[in-house]
This record gives sequence, C-alpha cells and structure tokens, in this order.
Amino acid sequence: MSTQDTEAEQHKTRLRVREVLEREVLPFAEQWEDQGYIDRSGWISLAEAGLFALPHAGPGFLDSAVFLEELGRTGYAGIRAAIGVHAYMAPSYLIKFGSARQQESYLPAIRRAERIAALALSEEGAGTDLGSVRTRAEPDENGGYLLSGRKLHVANGSQAGLIITLARVGPADSDAEQQRGLSRLALFAVDARARGVAATPEPMLGWRTADVCTVDFDNVRLPGDAVIGKPGRTLIYLAQALEFERLVAGLLAVGGTAFCVSLLDEFARSHRINGAALSANQAVRHRVADLSADLALVEQYGRYAAQQHALGRLDARVASILKLKATELAVTAAQACMQFHGARGYAADSAAARVFLDAAAGTIAAGPSELMRELIFESR
Ligand SMILES: Cc1cc2nc3c(=O)[nH]c(=O)nc-3n(C[C@H](O)[C@H](O)[C@H](O)COP(=O)(O)OP(=O)(O)OC[C@H]3O[C@@H](n4cnc5c(N)ncnc54)[C@H](O)[C@@H]3O)c2cc1C
Repeated sequence: MSTQDTEAEQHKTRLRVREVLEREVLPFAEQWEDQGYIDRSGWISLAEAGLFALPHAGPGFLDSAVFLEELGRTGYAGIRAAIGVHAYMAPSYLIKFGSARQQESYLPAIRRAERIAALALSEEGAGTDLGSVRTRAEPDENGGYLLSGRKLHVANGSQAGLIITLARVGPADSDAEQQRGLSRLALFAVDARARGVAATPEPMLGWRTADVCTVDFDNVRLPGDAVIGKPGRTLIYLAQALEFERLVAGLLAVGGTAFCVSLLDEFARSHRINGAALSANQAVRHRVADLSADLALVEQYGRYAAQQHALGRLDARVASILKLKATELAVTAAQACMQFHGARGYAADSAAARVFLDAAAGTIAAGPSELMRELIFESR
C-alpha cells in the first residue's frame, strides 16, 4: 500500500473512532469520573464497536495508534488510562508471551469486554524498582501456587476480571537474598474473581475514571498454568512489555495534550478582556503558538514511534523519549491552560482543572520521567 493509501486508511479509522468515542464515551464521561470507573454498558459498547480488537503489532498497529491518540483527545485521562490498560498494556503480556491456552481463554473475553484486564506490578517500595516486589507465589503440592501480597495503584482494580500480576516465586520463608532481585520473579494470569482477591479503591487527585485500587491477594490458589511464559525470562518480558506500555502511554498523552492545547486556544480566542479577545495579547498568542509547535513535534515523534513498533523495531530509547516528552509537554500545556483560564480554570468542575490534575500523573505512571531519562542516557 502506498503512503497516501495508508494515510487515507488511517484518516478513515480516525473518523470512525472519533464518532464512536463521541457517541459512547463523551455523554457518560462526567458520570464515570464521579463514580470512578467505566460503566459495564460503556465497556460493552466500545467492545461491540470493535475497538478492543485493533492489532497490537504489525502494520495494523497504526490503527491502534490512531485510536490511542483519539482516546487522549477525549480530554479524560482516567478514561484513556482505563482503556489503555484493558486493551493494550495488560493483554500485551498474553499476546507476546502467553500460552495458546491462556490466549484462548482470555483474549476473546477481553476483546468482548466480558473480562476487564488490569496490570498489577507496583507495590510499596517496588514501583520504579520492580526487583523489590514482595508479593509471593508459593508452589503448592498440586503443581500450582498460593499467591499472597499487596499491589498498589492498579488501574481497573475494582472492575477487573483478569489481573496480570508480578510476583516472586518461592516459599514464604526464603532467605533475605531472595527477597530482592529479578531472578525469581514471574508473571501470572490471575482470575480476579478467585477467592482471596480483594480490591479497595485508592482515591487519586486525577485519572478519576481509571478505577485505581489497592489489590490484596490472600492465599489465592493459582493453577500451575497461570504462569505466563518461562519464569526465567521474566526480566526480558518486563523490558519488552514496558517499552510497549510507554509507547501506549506516550500516544495517549499526545492526544491528551492536543485536547489541552485546543481548550486553551478556543478559550483564548473567545474570552474577552478590555474589549478584546484574550488572544489579542502577544504574550498569550506566543504561548499558544509555542505549545502548538511543541505538540506538532511530539505528534510526529509519536507517529514515528508507532511506525517503528509496527515494523518490529521499537526500542527502549524511542519509547522512553516519546513517554518523557509527551507527558512533560502535557504538564506544561496544562499549567498554561489553567493560568489563562483565570479563576474559572481553578474551579473544581472545570475542564482546565481536570486536565491539570490528570497531567500530573502522566509523568509518574508507567515509569517516572527520571527513569525515562536514565533509559535514554543508557541507550546512547
Ligand atoms: C494514576 C496512576 C496509575 C497507575 N496505574 C498502575 C497500574 O495499573 N499498575 C501498576 O502496576 N502500577 C501503576 N501505577 C504505578 C506506577 O507505575 C508507579 O507509580 C511508578 O512506576 C513509580 O513508582 P513509585 O510510585 O513507587 O515511585 P518510586 O519508585 O518510589 O519513586 C518515587 C519518585 O522518585 C523519583 N525517581 C525514581 N527513580 C529515580 C531515578 N533513577 N533517579 C531520580 N529520581 C528517581 C521519581 O520522581 C519517582 O516519582 C500507577 C500510578 C499512577 C500515579
């Protein structure tokens, strides 16, 4: 297919996705923000529109990239995060490293939104440093495991039907040396409805619809085939999946920043001070122009990163640069948007305030900016 054909196809995808999001998401977004999660009917409508079946890899990923950007453009980071985790970040572990049985049992259910997917990596003292994970999978006498521990900040926590969980394999009394390091880590596909799994909402400043929860595992029985891939390769799996996660987070943030810059631009043109539009002031025009220019660069880099992934060439450097630049630009844009809205932008129920609070989490979730800088420095 020629470049022009590909662009025309993606434009069609963009219009289709936008139409679905305008119909199935925007009218309900405020209600979902208030309740803290996407309604069951919302999940189902998006699934029926085929949006959870877009490809994770290959040329078809470019359609996913369009979807992720458009999700960002809804202006609700909690909604985009919930969907990003469900449709991309969590299932990527099964798609890339899962067994045929795991793929058959979970992927169709995720695409139909019969099971909402969540990803439980982080713990107290084990966010950036995943080598310190203490959740334990203790082998039992039947070839399975008993899972115990506490996971923090799990998006989709209370609605999840499947939780991809990182744990340390071994008996609970293993020595201190084994408490750290990545060598004994393994990933598990955990049925969130199993006995001993409990989710407690963690109220957050922003990302309200993301349903961020603490998830406790209390001697949860896992079958032997709940392990994803080969435990000895978990470090490699994490590295690859986190690159993908940062690509997804970056594309979502590009869309989120585009929403914020449009919000600011429209306000600056329509709000009047001293008988003239706010945008009549050069200070305001130039601020909007600078943000639009930075956004155009990040958008192009996002498309480059998506293409690299579609070609099977995404690496830590490209994923980290996109995640870093897109999420930090979102913070800068949100701050300007709030400032130029005046007090009305500081009102708790304003879009400017929501975007401001949402942007702050983007530079932390899926790996903080400092870690992105470390990865960029190391990959030079
Ligand atoms: C809204 C939200 C949703 C999330 N959803 C999920 C989820 O669904 N699943 C999940 O598993 N996790 C999730 N997380 C957790 C997220 O991945 C972690 O917060 C992140 O990895 C950082 O870990 P931490 O919070 O434990 O911070 P820590 O690792 O304790 O780091 C604290 C701070 O130290 C600084 N820092 C870290 N490393 C360095 C360094 N090398 N150099 C200099 N400074 C450094 C950074 O500023 C960092 O923010 C979510 C977080 C948020 C905010």
